[in-house]
Amino acid sequence: MPDNAQQFASDNYSGICPEAWAAMAEANLGHQRAYGDDEWTARAADHFRRLFETDCEVFFAFNGTAANSLALASLCQSYHSVICSETAHVETDECGAPEFFSNGSKLLPARTDNGKLTPQAIRDVALKRQDIHYPKPRVVTLTQATEVGTVYRPEEVRAISQTCEELGLHLHMDGARFSNACAFLGCSPAELTWKAGVDVLCFGGTKNGMAVGEAIIFFDKGLAEDFDYRCKQAGQLASKMRYLSAPWVGILQDDAWLKYANHANHCAQLLATLVSDVPGVSLMFPVEANGVFLQLSEPAIAALTARGWRFYTFIGAGGARFMCSWDTDEARVRQLAADIREVMGA
Ligand SMILES: *Cc1c(COP(=O)(O)O)cnc(C)c1O
Repeated sequence: MPDNAQQFASDNYSGICPEAWAAMAEANLGHQRAYGDDEWTARAADHFRRLFETDCEVFFAFNGTAANSLALASLCQSYHSVICSETAHVETDECGAPEFFSNGSKLLPARTDNGKLTPQAIRDVALKRQDIHYPKPRVVTLTQATEVGTVYRPEEVRAISQTCEELGLHLHMDGARFSNACAFLGCSPAELTWKAGVDVLCFGGTKNGMAVGEAIIFFDKGLAEDFDYRCKQAGQLASKMRYLSAPWVGILQDDAWLKYANHANHCAQLLATLVSDVPGVSLMFPVEANGVFLQLSEPAIAALTARGWRFYTFIGAGGARFMCSWDTDEARVRQLAADIREVMGA
């Protein structure tokens, strides 16, 4: 297998999509004002306002860790806490950045069903303690699509936001794979966010065809006060901002974001279908977005690795994660499925 063969370890193994690339090339012509005062940044923000059908505040950061951490920090004080799922990226994969950037706001993991928080799980954590010795719950963060490839339905988000309202909590959404969730549900970005009660969304670009970049979108504009200073202090204010914002114009203007998310989701469905009848292989979670989580035998995992396949196995014994990307080649999916069948001895 060549070194740059398509892999399924993560959707960020992929490169840059043509639309993002072309917009960057166009943005590269001539000079533009720096620090986000340029034409491309204004255009990208307008595209988001059109896409979400509302007058939201839009910011750009280099990656998801920064976007999530700074968004959460803007929603709480250091003595507050943030309720998240036990599998949340903010809890397991951000090296304490949410706590660091919020000066100590504690993350409180809650149990999940197929990677999703429920109103009851949130209530249990939020109401467990109400005394002065416990960090006061102030925010709930959801991951859409979740870390295990499932997707919250609009009514599930609404039920959670109602719980948040009752308990006095803000609602944040980690949308590193928001595009894949929209593609799966076929509903509008507005329905899945502010119309369902989400206050702030971190919209991922990196895993859906961009080189770098996440957008932080405040639907409750009051919460965005001084957010630009927070970004600057955290080293997230790009001096040549147009290279962060132009690719968004590229993927938003003709709906490439949705086309690619649909493609990645379709490839995940294909992989799941192709291995569904292999003896000993089982799906660990419903395939809804662009990830397939399979229970395989340990020898099969070793054999796949020996054949050159790269994938993550952080989800426990025999669990393997396969992520599809905006550019995943169906032939490559078929090759992987055939190899899974072989190493499982089918
Ligand atoms: C990839 C990812 C992020 C962003 O990670 P960075 O490496 O910081 O860009 C955030 N949340 C989830 C669920 C992710 O999968």
